[in-house]
Amino acid sequence: MNPKQIELKAFAKINLSLDVQGLLDNGFHKVEMVMQQILLCDDVSVCWAPSEYKSGIDILLSTNKYYLPKDARNLAYKAALLMGDEFSGSDGAAWVSGGTVKIDIKKRIPVAAGLAGGSSDGAAVLHALNRLWNLNLSISELCILGAKLGSDVPFCIMGQAAANHNLMTGYKDDPLACHCALATGTGTELRPIKGLKSHLVLSKPPIAVSTAQVYKGIDTVEIPAHPDNDALLDALEINHRETIKKNMVNVLENFTLKSYPMIVYTKNKIQYLCKSGCVLMSGSGPTVFGLCDSMKEAKYICKQMLKDNKESYWTRTTW
Ligand code: ATP
Repeated sequence: MNPKQIELKAFAKINLSLDVQGLLDNGFHKVEMVMQQILLCDDVSVCWAPSEYKSGIDILLSTNKYYLPKDARNLAYKAALLMGDEFSGSDGAAWVSGGTVKIDIKKRIPVAAGLAGGSSDGAAVLHALNRLWNLNLSISELCILGAKLGSDVPFCIMGQAAANHNLMTGYKDDPLACHCALATGTGTELRPIKGLKSHLVLSKPPIAVSTAQVYKGIDTVEIPAHPDNDALLDALEINHRETIKKNMVNVLENFTLKSYPMIVYTKNKIQYLCKSGCVLMSGSGPTVFGLCDSMKEAKYICKQMLKDNKESYWTRTTW
């Protein structure tokens, strides 16, 4: 049987706002945040080679970054394992029996950056195997699977359905295919909303920030200001920049800016250079982004940021 292959773009996200509203019964933090897809992406290629003689699924993962795990610690590998558990088997009811899934990731999104890079790779593998195995799962069904991998995965699934040309045909009437969403609960309850059209500069200080530690840390500090997400949604609807700026608040900064001076430095420098003054840490950090009025401005600020942080990029939101 012939192998089949699909290439997908696994886009990064930024948080235009991030609020933490206490703890849920399951011990996770209750969040309310606006997630926006951006053009910076990894290239994920997935090849399926079925075998008549083999039962079970083999998974082979390659990537251009030597330091990324290539086994079950990689979210893309985990996604293939999950799909195998759900849909493969030797009985007649299974969708696929034996074969090999080959995954190649060309990584561009900085790792452990607050940009959901790993989650997006995982989401791409779910989409890919849905196609290669002819499962015909809806976005909503893929999101239920994705939530088992991580809380950012469902948003990445929705965004990829909207922004990958080779996926779009199947989802063009599905409102869940979107570039921007309000996320509540643990971040997996998603409502599509109108997104932001903007050029961007991103800069990741050369430090590692543990998401778990940041969420633990946030319980120990004062949160003087929360974003008004209702106002932010209204402002996005009419592109009212001043209200957008006022509500671009990430409460996790109350912990990270105290604990990591490099994030403060990066934020201050972008704030100084960015005419819009809209500058925020994404997710649990450490990446800081600024909204720019033009590609020219984004490129210029990026050049200045590269002097301090070699992981600095100019890009834009998707729409
Ligand atoms: P989020 O914003 O969803 O918290 P992040 O941008 O902070 O994500 P990732 O880039 O997803 O973080 O990486 C977090 C950790 O996950 C890293 O320690 C990395 O080794 C591991 N990881 C597993 N799979 C991947 C992958 N495909 N790409 C990047 N990191 C991965």
